Amino acid sequence: MTEVNTQLYINGVYRPAEDNLQYGIYNPARPSELVGYAAAATKKDVDKAVQAAHAAFPAWSELGYARRAELLRKIGYALTAEIDDVNYRSQLFCREHGKILRETHLEISRLGERFFQCADYADRLAADELIEGPPFDTLVSRQPRGVAALIVPWNWPLAILGCKLPQALITGNTVVVKPANYSALTPTLTLRKIAELLPPGVLNILTGSSSEIGDPLVGHPLVRKVNFTGSVEVGRHVMKVAAENITPVTLELGGNDPGIILEDALLDEAAFKRLYLGAFMSTGQICMALKRLYVHRSRYDEVVAGLIAECNRQIIGDGLLPETTMGPMNNKKQLNVVQGMIAQAYQAGAEVVELGQVVDQELYAQGYFQRPTLVLNPAHHLDVVQEEQFGPVLPIIPFDTEEEVISWANDSVFGLCSSVWSQDTKRAVTLSRQIEAGYTYLNAHGPSAQDGRGPFGGFKQSGIGRNMGYEGTIAFQGYHCISAPNDSIGTLMPFWNK
Ligand code: NAP
Ligand code: MG
Repeated sequence: MTEVNTQLYINGVYRPAEDNLQYGIYNPARPSELVGYAAAATKKDVDKAVQAAHAAFPAWSELGYARRAELLRKIGYALTAEIDDVNYRSQLFCREHGKILRETHLEISRLGERFFQCADYADRLAADELIEGPPFDTLVSRQPRGVAALIVPWNWPLAILGCKLPQALITGNTVVVKPANYSALTPTLTLRKIAELLPPGVLNILTGSSSEIGDPLVGHPLVRKVNFTGSVEVGRHVMKVAAENITPVTLELGGNDPGIILEDALLDEAAFKRLYLGAFMSTGQICMALKRLYVHRSRYDEVVAGLIAECNRQIIGDGLLPETTMGPMNNKKQLNVVQGMIAQAYQAGAEVVELGQVVDQELYAQGYFQRPTLVLNPAHHLDVVQEEQFGPVLPIIPFDTEEEVISWANDSVFGLCSSVWSQDTKRAVTLSRQIEAGYTYLNAHGPSAQDGRGPFGGFKQSGIGRNMGYEGTIAFQGYHCISAPNDSIGTLMPFWNK
């Protein structure tokens, strides 16, 4: 494959960054292999993108839900219409990101599905509420906010765009999207396909260094909504910058998801596959991955043995090869974090087992690889238990009572997702309701168990607000009320969009 060069997309024009700046993106499986260059936007580009989105806002917001829904459906089709194009983007995505082809295909199709889902909200979104008097008749409607800045992380850049982009568009906002530095090429090519089906200025794309463009974007006075997905550290900073203009933020931040296996859980082969995927899909680099596994002591040995067997079936290598089931981590920085946690646990005396099959040792030594790793019964204070690993390592800890395991599960600054594994649904639901988290999966964990029609997000430092579902969609709007005394001439009834 030849090197790919991507540009910015501002006001309907695909063009280089202001000073022709760009930066290289390298393959995490072979860090010396240049995959391509992305444009490195400047502050001036940020202003142009926001101004373009602001200028496009009146016409886009007035277009109406039905027309916007038509365009969203057209985009949904276009995203996966040409098989050669999908294959090309899947391979490029694999090379710039590291994740396996099956997952890059999945992300591309996920994004398309979300456009259809949001288009289906059109009628519900168009409806106002009428609160009838006396003393007043009040029409409650929602309005788009204006320019929305959408910021996505590197780990699932397309699927995460699917949690905010179609939602921002259907509700009548115009957008400026900033993909992450580490995987900018495929998102840019994909976003360009979308932008070309929209009026100029409705969707603008900025790639480049966050230290150059992050604050100017978030703090721009014409940005009326910031929707950020990423780390707690950057999320906290984004919130501070947004506070200057009292810009509302939705923050989807990190997680340290607990999974609880009760003594009556059904642990067949399929359950172990779901457990494995819950923790290790995308080489563990998923916000809602299983990150701490608490197992009733009576099932502990069985769970450890089952997960060891499942991990050992995995083939670790270049994600482009069809037999590979786990690719490298995306970047050296995150690899160092994970390996640091593993080393700390080992030094503290925990049993650490590194598993899976490495076919090409030379490649493994070059790339940002880490085999799937289990840490058995570590002390609670260790980083591998307390912190978000965001990599292929899972601590497994035995428990004796429900009370004990709930207190451990909730003993975290995070509250994103969680899971309970049991054959007794009543007990599992009762326990789920005691977990401080935005989502609990039963007998599964992670994106493959998630219903995209539900609101997604976390409690505590896992974030503010929700993405996806109807609730995540109307988060891109504000409320507007019109009241009239209901004894006045005429009522508001004729103006009510039911
Ligand atoms: P990150 O370092 O926080 O970056 C996220 C995004 O913010 C990137 O596009 C980054 O750009 C940008 N950014 C950095 N500094 C900025 C600033 N000052 N102003 C505006 N934008 C700025 O996170 P990451 O390392 O990409 O992703 C991993 C983290 O994301 C993990 O903690 C994970 O749990 C979390 N995450 C959460 C969810 C969720 O839905 N809750 C989903 C996925 C991931 P650059 O890449 O250019 O620095
Ligand atoms: Mg980062």
